[in-house]
Amino acid sequence: MIDPAVLATLPTEEVRCGVAEMIKHGIIGDPDLFVELETIADYGLKIEDYKLQIARALRVKIDIVEGDPFEEGARALLNLGHTVGHALERLSGFKLRHGEAVSIGMVAEARIAVELGRADRTLAERIETVLAAWGLPVRSPPFAAAAIWEAMAHDKKRRGRALRFALPYAIGAVEIIDDVPSEVVKSVLHSMGARSSK
Ligand SMILES: [Zn+2]
Repeated sequence: MIDPAVLATLPTEEVRCGVAEMIKHGIIGDPDLFVELETIADYGLKIEDYKLQIARALRVKIDIVEGDPFEEGARALLNLGHTVGHALERLSGFKLRHGEAVSIGMVAEARIAVELGRADRTLAERIETVLAAWGLPVRSPPFAAAAIWEAMAHDKKRRGRALRFALPYAIGAVEIIDDVPSEVVKSVLHSMGARSSK
């Protein structure tokens, strides 16, 4: 249950974090929602006015979860931005808010998709632009890129499964890719402000 009146009592930073997840859901499965979030970014953070957008963002998640109750496949799509995001969150000692880390993670993962030749550069730019328009961070903190990679690999060991990325290839379309080369990930993180590994 989500009550927009309660959301209105949250500090701006926390509302922004929720918007990051709404943008994520637009990228995963609702291009029209994504376009709306691009449009209303200029109107500011009156989240209580955005009941319809919240409901649509939830619909994307509900459809995926209902279609994959045992987490065998499609639910991994919901991890968009979270493979990199969780690592940044942890390295920051949880000073970075979850939604902020996911915002940076979505930019990184869109750029990884571009580097792998699976997405057009304009896709990554568009994702970065809408996140920045909502006041969300799109640059990496100055952690060493190698340390971020290690934090991701640690997560993988903990879960006992392959290091898996949900990468966007269009607005409304995400695919699951295993075994993304570490060099690609580290060079993308470096391009976003992480320190070079050397
Ligand atoms: Zn999340």
